[in-house]
Amino acid sequence: MADPSVDPGDDLFDFDAEVLVVGTGGSGFAAAITAAAAGRSVVVFERNDHIGGTTGASGGTAWIPNNASLRAQGKKDPSEFALKYMCRLSFPQYYVADHPTLGLPKDAYDLIATFYDEGSVAIDHLTEIGVFDLMADTRAPDVDNPMEMPSGNLLAGFPDYGAELEEEKLPTGRHLFPRPGTPGMVDQLEAGAAAHGVKVVLDHQVRGVIKNDDGEVVGLELRYGHSARLARARRGVIFASGGYAHNAELVQRYLPGRVFGTCATLGAQGDFVRIGIEAGAQLGNMKNAWFKQVPLEAALRSPTPPSVWLPWGDAMIHVNKYGRRVVDEKMPYHDRSQAHSIYDPTRREYPNLLLFMIFDDTVASSQSRAGMRQPLPAPGESVPEWVIKGDTWDDLAAKVDARLAEHSAETAGLRLDPSFGGNLADTIERFNGFAETGVDADFGRGRAPIGRAWNGPNREGSPNPTMAPFASEGPYYCVILAAGILDTNGGPVINTKAQVLSTSGDPIPGLYGAGNCVASPAGQGYWGPGATIGLGITYGYLAGRHAAAEPEKNFTF
Ligand SMILES: Cc1cc2nc3c(=O)[nH]c(=O)nc-3n(C[C@H](O)[C@H](O)[C@H](O)COP(=O)(O)OP(=O)(O)OC[C@H]3O[C@@H](n4cnc5c(N)ncnc54)[C@H](O)[C@@H]3O)c2cc1C
Repeated sequence: MADPSVDPGDDLFDFDAEVLVVGTGGSGFAAAITAAAAGRSVVVFERNDHIGGTTGASGGTAWIPNNASLRAQGKKDPSEFALKYMCRLSFPQYYVADHPTLGLPKDAYDLIATFYDEGSVAIDHLTEIGVFDLMADTRAPDVDNPMEMPSGNLLAGFPDYGAELEEEKLPTGRHLFPRPGTPGMVDQLEAGAAAHGVKVVLDHQVRGVIKNDDGEVVGLELRYGHSARLARARRGVIFASGGYAHNAELVQRYLPGRVFGTCATLGAQGDFVRIGIEAGAQLGNMKNAWFKQVPLEAALRSPTPPSVWLPWGDAMIHVNKYGRRVVDEKMPYHDRSQAHSIYDPTRREYPNLLLFMIFDDTVASSQSRAGMRQPLPAPGESVPEWVIKGDTWDDLAAKVDARLAEHSAETAGLRLDPSFGGNLADTIERFNGFAETGVDADFGRGRAPIGRAWNGPNREGSPNPTMAPFASEGPYYCVILAAGILDTNGGPVINTKAQVLSTSGDPIPGLYGAGNCVASPAGQGYWGPGATIGLGITYGYLAGRHAAAEPEKNFTF
């Protein structure tokens, strides 16, 4: 076994290991630990001065179908139903229930089927070698106190994000989280990496791959401060370097509509897009991301504004610049936020580029801590500047439009349409009627179980807890919302062994990828809490397993 070393010595290389990994998030650690547990020497490079990446800032859950914790609870998750659920959400434009690959292109289907087959294998392996201590919880949350689950985890027991679909047969229990009393997910991975002899090198940005005469990837070029460094990979290189959320040029070039903010790590600069292209990789899933909403005015001030996971309140709607509702406001963040990027071919514009979250004083002044309060402050916290208050509807509209005028250079000049006030009055009246009957005839609000679970307080006697009529008198409030992303999930295309594919469709020898830096097997879908990390860990594990099994490579140029 080669000894990973930082000592340059006389050698050309500053580092030398059998497997090199790029990135210290969930995908990178899963890859590194798996390769190390297979007996290989492993070095992980991280461009940040700290470990964890976006995984370290996340809720730390992993969505894994048919996981061991579910099986131990006697819950069945057969592939037939799990695959239908995933394929339906990921490729709705292709999905056919009775087709051999469910209507998907075969390679797309195979990636999802492999995730089903290998996800629980990956978690079980990482558990058996002492890295993970995770559990699932299938108990339904208390909707009035959803943050106080018996297991103590914020996301425990919550339904999958598409649980209302007929393809969904197991709405809870696929997402795993650290057992109460154990360290967080990244802490478990970091300790596991240390225990398996994985060497982690911070402040080193990978800049490119090195290929030998045979076109095999046999090393990495790095930047450390102002100096260049080289690393030799005797068997394989695994990229797990996150997406391109903080690379404005790539975001503008590839994502639909316009994205205003992200909660990804600053290291999410899309390095593997450029490096992958230079290595001859084909790109995929570049038009998708893990979407969410952000308060526009926070996003204009900071590259990492707060997230709006589920907009709070019952007497609350989203309207566009014409004063019209455009979406079920209680859909999960990823789906709801895609309403921003809908193009209107008749008006030749993005009418929902910005959406206006309108609510009344009952919502604004509630002291309840139930549900997800964003973008409202927690009780006792000061009200942020992005909450706009008007005494009457007209006053509110005037103030919102004045704010839009201030930001017009950064928002393509978007202003409220002259029809806004009249249309909003109609919209509110119609919504109030829906709230009274409990049936949202326009968007079916409250149908998605996750929307109910994260909704917040239930008003006494409400036929649909996600809706309540607006108060007949002001004050009224507005937060201007825009599309944001957790991170992107497009990049070089991989196969079911996590090998990166060239433009001709063949694996690039020695090059692997997992997580947000590659074309996500999830396509357009976000299956449930932890889907991004579940996929990253599974394909990281596969990358580690296969890279460890590669033959030693010649080093001739
Ligand atoms: C607040 C929040 C909550 C979330 N909650 C969840 C959740 O509960 N479950 C879930 O599934 N998802 C969640 N997500 C999304 C999830 O965190 C990410 O999708 C996932 O962690 C990405 O993992 P990754 O391993 O692909 O990348 P990362 O965790 O981002 O790791 C990539 C690492 O690579 C490093 N890197 C990049 N380029 C280079 C380079 N050239 N050289 C060296 N290093 C490099 C980066 O600095 C980074 O540290 C959440 C996100 C946020 C922000």
